[in-house]
Amino acid sequence: MSDRTIALVTGANKGIGYEIAAGLGALGWQVGVGARDEERREAAVAKLRAGGADVFGVPLDVTDDASVTAAARLIEDRAGRLDVLVNNAGITGIAPQEPTVVDPAIIRTVVETNVIGVIRVTNALLPLLRRSASPRIVNMSSTVGSITRQTTPGAETGPIAAAYSPSKSFLNAVTVQYAKELRDTNILINLACPGYTATDLNGFSGVRTPEQGAAIAIRLATLPDDGPTGGYFDDDGEIPW
Ligand code: NAP
Repeated sequence: MSDRTIALVTGANKGIGYEIAAGLGALGWQVGVGARDEERREAAVAKLRAGGADVFGVPLDVTDDASVTAAARLIEDRAGRLDVLVNNAGITGIAPQEPTVVDPAIIRTVVETNVIGVIRVTNALLPLLRRSASPRIVNMSSTVGSITRQTTPGAETGPIAAAYSPSKSFLNAVTVQYAKELRDTNILINLACPGYTATDLNGFSGVRTPEQGAAIAIRLATLPDDGPTGGYFDDDGEIPW
């Protein structure tokens, strides 16, 4: 088994995920670029390699059991273990999302990717993470998932949304349950909030660069063994739930 740190980033073909892969690659890690579309995946792998990163493509649709099982097998065959999993893939779902008019199918689609997708990928990779000396899991959340923020007058909370924001609150709650179950292991699992970042997700209206958005996930991916678990963080520290 290789001594080098092995990471997998989901949704790494563009946006924040791409920059997380680039940042982890710059640490000298071997990084799996998880992406569902072959062309977009291979283009990202080529670009990351051109930048000097040691990356490999991992076909991965987080909503598809067979795809996730195959991704876990690919990493097992290649590395025999996984040190760091970054569950970055996410969608907002289409409008309208006001709770009084939203199509329940939109909620299902968003939760399937943003919550169940994370559970599916995490559980498929856990056997490989358990073989690592210092396993880390980072789940990409959002400050719009903070119920405290959503109920604080004047706080920046994004648009009214019955699908996207609650999906991140759901992910937060699930991550806390993972942290509780894994408390007596060496696995640290935390939530990262990238801030409002200019990507396809918001039509590039965000104010931060994808590189800036990637920073907190990279920090949580590189936590020391005595680092926190079950926490909810942005660049400035802990976020109120
Ligand atoms: P993005 O540019 O739209 O990238 C999203 C990534 O997720 C893409 O690679 C996309 O792949 C992938 N993805 C979506 N569904 C997938 C699936 N079923 N299986 C595998 N991959 C899938 O968005 P981003 O802004 O970088 O978002 C990354 C994460 O940050 C998300 O979890 C998002 O909720 C979170 N976030 C973003 C912001 C922001 O302001 N941008 C703020 C807070 C949180 P395709 O190219 O194939 O669609």
